[in-house]
Amino acid sequence: MDVNKAVSRRALKYYIFDWDDNILHMPTKIYLERRCSDGGWEKTEVSTSSFALMRKDPTTWRMPAEGGAAAAFRDFKDPADGGENAFLRDTAEAIERVKRGARPGPSFNTLRKTLREGRLFAVVTARGHRAETLEKAVRLFIAEVLTEREREEMMASLRGYRWWLDGCEKFGTDEEELAYYLALCQYHAVTGPDFARMLSQDEAFARDLSCADGARRPEMAKEYAIKGFVEHLFHTLERTGALGHPVSVGFSDDDAGNVHAVSNYIRTCLAERFGAFKFVVYDTSDPALSKGRKIVIANARK
Ligand SMILES: [Mg+2]
Repeated sequence: MDVNKAVSRRALKYYIFDWDDNILHMPTKIYLERRCSDGGWEKTEVSTSSFALMRKDPTTWRMPAEGGAAAAFRDFKDPADGGENAFLRDTAEAIERVKRGARPGPSFNTLRKTLREGRLFAVVTARGHRAETLEKAVRLFIAEVLTEREREEMMASLRGYRWWLDGCEKFGTDEEELAYYLALCQYHAVTGPDFARMLSQDEAFARDLSCADGARRPEMAKEYAIKGFVEHLFHTLERTGALGHPVSVGFSDDDAGNVHAVSNYIRTCLAERFGAFKFVVYDTSDPALSKGRKIVIANARK
């Protein structure tokens, strides 16, 4: 059984990933209605990229008469009735397209490398799924994107970290070690039920969020998720005695508004509090740049 003890000499690098158009270009559809020539309305499906244009033209497009916005965005949430999960279906489809030669998201290969190296990460998305659904999508990514050799490398890294940071000499089955690792990672769908539950335990933030204007809300929720992950990293490193090693935390998102808001948030709130961490933001909004634009927000205090 391979145990990669060399992980103890690696820099500690962690990542926070937006999902849609950052990891994968998802085929998720929005369900709308279009005005017909006879004045009636017909049901139709549109892509997330064309939705931005259609919402500006309310004479031609509208939310479904039955169900409104909840019906329009139903595939951005988990089904209530245990039916087919659109996120897992669309993730499988997006991965399949990449395998057939389609362009992956700009951070696709960074997630692949992060998994191969067994590093902790968080997925932070504006979607409304359960945390468990995002974890299942990551498992799908491991099964479908990583090669057999890469999965072995991942397992050797995971055992290496368990040996170094948890003092393990004996290891569980691959499935047990993988479950242990994935449980240390975080999955935040900021309009989902698990995130709402987390917010309900923080009255002050929940109040600020409810007072914020509509455009600020998703950004604030993402900031909150990022703060949670950075705190989690700090406590995990503290618990395992790894604080003191160089740590960097990367965040990638293809939404320029999110990148701007999160950069400000890191600069004003996290950089001082976590002075030993280096923070890097990857703006992946420009499709001409294959891995996005790297911005160092805060360098670790020496
Ligand atoms: Mg995105």
